Amino acid sequence: MVSRVIPVDPFDLVIFGGTGDLARRKILPGLYRRYCAGQMPEEARIIGAARTEMDAAGYREMVAEAIEEFGGKDACDNLDAFLAKLDYVAIDARGETGWAELQDLMSGKDRIEVYYFSVAPGLFGDLAERLQQWGMAGEECRIVVEKPFGRDLESARALNATLATYFKEQQIYRIDHYLGKETVQNLMAVRFGNMLFEPLWNRQYVDHIQITVAETVGVGGRGEYYDKSGAMRDMVQNHLMQLLCLIAMEPPARFDPDAVRDEKLKVIRAIDPVLPHHLVRGQYEAEEGNEEDAPSYRDAVGNPRSRTESFVALKAHISNWRWHGTPFYLRTGKRMVARSSEITVVFKDTPHSIFAEDAGRHRNVLSIRLQPNEGITLGVTIKEPGPGGMRLVDVPLDMTFAEALGPDGGDQVDAYERLIMDVIRGNQTLFMRDDEVEAAWAWTDPIIQGWEARHDVPKPYDSGSAGPTDATEMMRRDGREWRKVSP
Ligand code: NAD
Repeated sequence: MVSRVIPVDPFDLVIFGGTGDLARRKILPGLYRRYCAGQMPEEARIIGAARTEMDAAGYREMVAEAIEEFGGKDACDNLDAFLAKLDYVAIDARGETGWAELQDLMSGKDRIEVYYFSVAPGLFGDLAERLQQWGMAGEECRIVVEKPFGRDLESARALNATLATYFKEQQIYRIDHYLGKETVQNLMAVRFGNMLFEPLWNRQYVDHIQITVAETVGVGGRGEYYDKSGAMRDMVQNHLMQLLCLIAMEPPARFDPDAVRDEKLKVIRAIDPVLPHHLVRGQYEAEEGNEEDAPSYRDAVGNPRSRTESFVALKAHISNWRWHGTPFYLRTGKRMVARSSEITVVFKDTPHSIFAEDAGRHRNVLSIRLQPNEGITLGVTIKEPGPGGMRLVDVPLDMTFAEALGPDGGDQVDAYERLIMDVIRGNQTLFMRDDEVEAAWAWTDPIIQGWEARHDVPKPYDSGSAGPTDATEMMRRDGREWRKVSP
């Protein structure tokens, strides 16, 4: 199946932090791939703006290296033409350096203007203020802001208020790259484009839902930042919460940004506070025999007394008619046994089995994999083939996109590429609105405050495991099991 590429309108994209890790690893290689796919008009310009002193030629060289290193090089054979679209301004978000030059570059052009804030959140306010001061914060421009969006409700509100001083909500694109994944959007297509699932999508037919985001990496070079954050702030408040919303929300009346975001917001507001015994925190230990390369969490962050969690598992309830009594189990952690992000909808048993006891009893399980091998699998119970009486067995109806959609469908567009193109198209559906972010923090804050008040110490877990045994126990108490974390 050949994917359709619709070129976007001419644009200027300024990447503040254009020399940073995120720009080099994701944004710039992603833009090159969009260029190769024919989505970028000839007039498009990309302007790196960062603190490092360099000229446009130096920036092009840096970007060529980034594309070589982080993928995209083989997307087409037109790197020089892409590099010709690049420019660079050495700028100081907090000072005056570079702003006149940037203003000069941006003036007199009648095209879409996007300012990507790929810098530390402490600079968002400075950038917004400077853009206005230098006459670049026009009503038509758009800004993209990276995570983390606050570290609690108070700071998120303050950040929203600062941005609202200079920009309307319709101009602000808060990025959560999980929402740019093909499968996440397919979740909406599967739910709202088929008659098959929606009638079953409720407390009457669904036993429980699991959302797992497991990473094999540790904190790496982000130790200092991560230790002040932890898995609850870094993963649950944003990524897992967004996935939960898409799974649990009511069908929006239209597939438009505010209709979708209104429904997501209702879900967040309906999630009950989480009880302490429905929460498990963990911290990974060093990998046995490999302590140097895979140190313990505390060694990795250089804080031997750290009480920050690198793992969270929790049981949440949504208080509304659709989901009352159906638990949602969320789990995320670092240094786990495999890298895997998956949403699983476990349906209830059939009300009555007509088959003999020894035929076995099975449940339908819908599994939505975000990574690796994006795709959707539905476990269906059938008769085990062959003679020997009626025995039941589960077979997967598998829709791995790479296989189902052929070479073009398999060549998945990276989440960042898709989201940047959405910004240029002016489509906010896959970006978080101010009230969504605040509602998510309002739910998260008491959990973190509870841990702090109780001086809670995370449970240690082995590197390469599925997390602390307490998480397994929490499920077992409910007569359920976590899905195996497998690649
Ligand atoms: P980085 O430290 O690698 O790069 C920071 C960039 O900001 C550099 O280009 C630097 O020159 C620029 N900068 C710093 N101070 C400046 C100033 N005063 N004026 C102008 N420019 C200045 O950071 P990063 O990893 O690229 O992250 C950028 C943002 O993206 C952060 O908000 C981070 O939380 C977020 N983010 C990063 C990743 C990732 O994978 N790296 C993932 C998700 C979110």
